[in-house]
Amino acid sequence: MHSFKLGRLFGINVELHNTFVWLAIIVAVLLALLQPENFLPIIILLFFLFLSVFFHELIHSVVAIQKGCKVEKIILLPIGGISVSEELPEKPSSEFLIAVVGPLFNFVVAFTILLLVSVVKLPFPANWFELFLTSPVEFEEALLIYPLLGLFYVNLLLGAFNLFLPALPLDGGRVARSILASIIGFSKATAIITKLSVFVAIFLFLVGFFSGSILVAIIAIFIYFGAKQEQETAAIKQALEKEPLKQFVNRKPFIAKASLSVEKIAELMQKRNELYFLVQLEKNRFGAIDINSIAAVDRKKRGETTAGQACRKVRPVGENEESDEIAAKMLGKGIAILPVTRRGKFIGAIEARELRKRFELNKVLKEG
Ligand SMILES: [Zn+2]
Repeated sequence: MHSFKLGRLFGINVELHNTFVWLAIIVAVLLALLQPENFLPIIILLFFLFLSVFFHELIHSVVAIQKGCKVEKIILLPIGGISVSEELPEKPSSEFLIAVVGPLFNFVVAFTILLLVSVVKLPFPANWFELFLTSPVEFEEALLIYPLLGLFYVNLLLGAFNLFLPALPLDGGRVARSILASIIGFSKATAIITKLSVFVAIFLFLVGFFSGSILVAIIAIFIYFGAKQEQETAAIKQALEKEPLKQFVNRKPFIAKASLSVEKIAELMQKRNELYFLVQLEKNRFGAIDINSIAAVDRKKRGETTAGQACRKVRPVGENEESDEIAAKMLGKGIAILPVTRRGKFIGAIEARELRKRFELNKVLKEG
């Protein structure tokens, strides 16, 4: 496991990534040994960072749910969070809104603190802006003395960093893509923004490298791999444009009963040399169960857990939907199989594997 579960909120699993835990432990140990007098203020600062990232992600997720996207979990990292959603929002305006509310929340918190200290007498350095511009060392000292300044600064940084870098997978990249997508369409917009993201990542890495800031370099690497992933999704979409979905539909897929135990499903998979099945939940409602969903069930509980409980509920796709969209969704989110319907009636299944094959073929044979 790379993260552990903190709890569940609005039906979303909230997980803390290991890097956050390690950072907290390393910082705590180093501080206790080297700067015991700064132990408490820095731990408070870390806690503020954690809280700010948490609410930033929570707000993304709540808006995403309101826009009809299912959100599975939130993973909290020291540099921000990731909301894991099964699907991209359909409309560019939804993507824009979901992306923009996170950083906006941080700016509102920062602004509220400024407003508060200007009205009420609270411990806050009046000359913080001057210190920030002229004396980084004194500003850092002030951060340790005034917790409210720490909370203000953490939110200002999170908001600015997430919104103003036009790089995927950061919020700024999503905002830029959604604006561009409303003009030139999703595929072209993604292609342009992912190229831009790679440049931003390289630039940021060089900045981090030459200024000796490890955190900036780490963020750059994170952006680089995120952008590469988005680039692959864009390439899949481009290669499968204008390919009718119908030709890939398996008309006679094996369908498992929801009442079967996970143990039984595993046996069937071995017998049929298959990695995934559709599961029939109700008349026109299906789930997908794959080898990973089986692995996720504790070995001792596989006899009593049913396929219906262990499967991932999936939305059927219409046979006339665009195969590039479906492929990007399936390959991007690791969905192996989806039910296909015609006028709401089940007619077969679409498998990511088949779409992957055509993608590989078209990538080479249709180039140029
Ligand atoms: Zn965000």
